[in-house]
Amino acid sequence: MLDDATPNLQSRLQLGAVTDVDIAILGAGFAGMCMAIALQRAGMHDFVILERADEVGGTWRDNHYPGAACDVPSHLYSLSFAPKADWSRVYPTQPELLAYLCELADAHGLRPKIRFGHDLRGADYDAETGRWRLDTSRGVVVAKKVVSGTGSLSEPRAPTLPGLERFAGKTFHSATWDHEYPLAGKRVAVIGTGASAIQFVPEIAAAPAQLDVYQRTPNWIIPRPDRAYGSIAQWIFRHVPGVRALYRASIYWKQEGRVLGFVVHPSLMKIGQRSALRHIAAQIADPALRARVTPEFAFGCKRVLISNDWYPMLQRDNVELVTTPVAEITTDAIIDDAGRRRPVDCIIHATGFYASESPIAAKIRGKDGTSLAHTWRDGEQAYLGTLVHGFPNLFLIVGPNVGLGHNSMVFMIETQVAYIMRLLAHMRDRGADVLDVRAAVQQRFNDELQTKLRGSIWATGCKSWYQHRSGKITALWPGFTFDFWRRTRAFDASHYELGPS
Ligand code: NAP
Repeated sequence: MLDDATPNLQSRLQLGAVTDVDIAILGAGFAGMCMAIALQRAGMHDFVILERADEVGGTWRDNHYPGAACDVPSHLYSLSFAPKADWSRVYPTQPELLAYLCELADAHGLRPKIRFGHDLRGADYDAETGRWRLDTSRGVVVAKKVVSGTGSLSEPRAPTLPGLERFAGKTFHSATWDHEYPLAGKRVAVIGTGASAIQFVPEIAAAPAQLDVYQRTPNWIIPRPDRAYGSIAQWIFRHVPGVRALYRASIYWKQEGRVLGFVVHPSLMKIGQRSALRHIAAQIADPALRARVTPEFAFGCKRVLISNDWYPMLQRDNVELVTTPVAEITTDAIIDDAGRRRPVDCIIHATGFYASESPIAAKIRGKDGTSLAHTWRDGEQAYLGTLVHGFPNLFLIVGPNVGLGHNSMVFMIETQVAYIMRLLAHMRDRGADVLDVRAAVQQRFNDELQTKLRGSIWATGCKSWYQHRSGKITALWPGFTFDFWRRTRAFDASHYELGPS
């Protein structure tokens, strides 16, 4: 449904004039759309969503590589207020998730509020006016408040490998997959063996004449208990009261139980490690290959992967697992540290994202003109992953230390959106135009987080994208998600500075 403010807002934007809104939301993925729906429900319609692409969906729009799917079960990896009874499988595929998000945009009438093709170039807070000025590829938007829903894994990171720029063949990143490029009969190299590679490499393995998989660090992998939901199960989810909600709750608590191993008693992870070792033993007969795929770090230190077809794929005749580091890339080949040259037509980067030091942080400048990137030079930090001192009226969704290794990010997103709504209501009730978190509150919160994180499985010696370059763990929430929920609900007005500007 369009609200009264919409036509006005649209015409202002179409004229290319500076647009003045109460709230600008960055990104139309799960986070941005969840925020927009909450605002609409509260009768707050003076907002706009700035989206760099031409469709909604965020990471589920961008990551359309073969086999892309979510490794959190579908009935939990969805918004609590937008249930879907007819999920096709336990683990939702990318097309199904994208369709879910498109339907969400349509069902809540969000599309008229979204400015597609608006790529953020800079966001500057003006302390004089108490406004954010957002420079986009299609004009300027001025907003009293900014909610960033740009995601923590949205900026693909290409590898830095000597000579890569000279390579004359085809290259692309897993997050920018080129479906037009035929892999059949080609010599293909995949760099990286993380969560993305583990999904697409088995899918494409039959096509190339030769497929070289470059593994820098092996990951722990456990079986993937996926299955389709039959029409009877879907009927029950839709028609029998309470079943779907109970099922969702059961998945949540099962996932939540994993925190015991990740944070409370890391020694419990040995149970998972044994299961992963059994998985290797069951799928690989060759002791030498078993050794090459067995990690040296503790189970859970890096993200645990789920796959039934990774190890079988590695044993195909046209596949070679390369564990010798890359020394150099020439115009048509990759040369490893042992001097072996492997000719290649196409290099696929499965090398992950800027989870830390994301380029967007350099574009956002707060009260004294300092960028988030500079403020976070020793590692990202925020208060409850949402507020950063010195950046008034900026609300982050999936900010620092909100990521999870064990449960659904959609739960965290909904929790943060509810928290932001509470903060906005607090501003309204106090007649305040500006809200900032107190520096001491933010520091105390982060000191506590880092103390907890130092005892977690993630701090047992591996190197992962959960960490900032400094080694500080900046991506993950160290505890139960219901504890995060509890802390965002225990609202303490003394934690915030309010002002007229
Ligand atoms: P990733 O897990 O960070 O994996 C990147 C891979 O590239 C690693 O194997 C890494 O090796 C390797 N690598 C990076 N730079 C390299 C270099 N210069 N030379 C050689 N190897 C290099 O990235 P991702 O697979 O895209 O996944 C990122 C995250 O996205 C996941 O952890 C997950 O949170 C999310 N994701 C989720 C799903 C899902 O739900 N199923 C699917 C895909 C992604 P090292 O280990 O040695 O660094």
